[in-house]
Amino acid sequence: TTALLWFRRDLRLSDLPSLLDAVEAADRVLACFVLDTTLLSSSGERRVQFLGDSLRDLSEQLDGRLLVVRGKPENRIPELVKAVDATSVHISSDHTPYGVARDKRVAEALGDVELAAQGSPYAVTPGRLAKNDGEPYKVYTPFLRAWRDHGWHSPADTGPKSATWVDPKDVTTSKSKAADIPDPGVDLPQPAGETAALKRWKQFVDGTKDFAEHSVADYDDVRNRPDLDATSRMSAHLKFGNIHPRTMLADLVDLEKKAATKDGATGYIREICFRDFYATIMHHWPRSSWWNWNSQFDDIEVDTDADAEKAFEQWKAGKTGFPIVDAAMRQLNESGWMHNRLRMIVASFLVKDLHLPWQWGAKYFLEQLTDGDMSNNQHGWQWTAGCGTDASPYFRVFNPTTQGEKFDPDGDFVRRWVPELADISGKAVHQPGDDRPEDYPEPMVDHKAEREEALARYQKVKG
Ligand code: FAD
Repeated sequence: TTALLWFRRDLRLSDLPSLLDAVEAADRVLACFVLDTTLLSSSGERRVQFLGDSLRDLSEQLDGRLLVVRGKPENRIPELVKAVDATSVHISSDHTPYGVARDKRVAEALGDVELAAQGSPYAVTPGRLAKNDGEPYKVYTPFLRAWRDHGWHSPADTGPKSATWVDPKDVTTSKSKAADIPDPGVDLPQPAGETAALKRWKQFVDGTKDFAEHSVADYDDVRNRPDLDATSRMSAHLKFGNIHPRTMLADLVDLEKKAATKDGATGYIREICFRDFYATIMHHWPRSSWWNWNSQFDDIEVDTDADAEKAFEQWKAGKTGFPIVDAAMRQLNESGWMHNRLRMIVASFLVKDLHLPWQWGAKYFLEQLTDGDMSNNQHGWQWTAGCGTDASPYFRVFNPTTQGEKFDPDGDFVRRWVPELADISGKAVHQPGDDRPEDYPEPMVDHKAEREEALARYQKVKG
């Protein structure tokens, strides 16, 4: 008998429960991936590159026994099932609105052949935790408590040798022709794929990162500092499932027991939990993917006219005249990644200083970010815009200048990304004043006035 193992956001072989399930269900396993034309068209080039590189790593680990096809999964998967006479199809569950609808279509198209979901991209599968009254959590801190109490499985013991793999060359179907793995030729600042993810994680955990001097040990102290290369940069690996958070949590729980790494590990676990939390929010409220989670904000006044579009272009280009905002946007445009503190600063600037719809910024982020992820991105934006789950009240408006001075205290980050300001030393770079070079723009808005404007708009919709 043969089973299909259909990879999606789980591009790895270790710690993969769906692989265990497939092996239990059949004698041989056909590993496959569908280049879903709908998803490909909405992914920025960097994510397509990361996906392609992850697939190449997977294929290499399987000695080429990965079949990649292109098209609509509801057509391709049943064709493959027919071609190898498969008795079941195995997946890790997906919780985005698109993924849920797609899997429903595929299950229907498969008829009697089971689409079996085992495991998810999260430590605790979205939908599993509920409050005492049976309602889903809406607030992060009690979710964190319940999430830690609930706990998670140990990593599943799987790898390339776990199955007898079907060679794709033996699979003949007229329609599901093997497709080329995408390779748009984008230069990614860090390698993709499971092999790279496990290496990077180990370096971060062991404190032997060869690219910086920080590690999990000082994560909690320095994770808010964009001028230091102090965070793990595991986000794209997590997004594509090159590593499962369970694998990371197994290490982190051990590190929590050692004094030197205790705070760092606890801090990191909190961030992994944020990822689970946002996926859970999207699972229960799919509306929050492009609409305000808190519908009270549906009526807030936002600017969308020609001037707004012009302001949006300045923001995107990193030419707002606010050094930390510009440095952050240029980091995004040039590298496809932005530090979390900066994501909050530029998002706040777009929503509260420019009064643009958060969705404009979120869409631009998804085009540029290698780690672009629906639940993290859309809820990160809404957290900052104040229309998401209740963590950040609307009236909290980030001051871009003082945020810059606090989190880039010597101005190194700004000088790295905004060469026009390279001659201004120290933290003065955050307020160039009379030293502002001619080729660097004046601040595009008066922050104090726009803060008042944002608060006035908020007052109008406040219940
Ligand atoms: P680390 O600090 O090393 O964190 C470890 C992991 O924890 C991350 O890889 C990530 O998976 C998770 N994590 C950390 N912070 C958060 C957070 N605030 N919310 C949810 N998960 C978190 N993250 C994405 O993965 N994709 C996105 O598209 C995305 N968009 C964002 C948009 C905005 C406006 C904001 C404010 C945040 C966004 N984040 C997003 C969350 C966060 O900024 C990134 O996960 C983090 O910067 C990635 O870098 P890292 O892996 O070095 O993080």
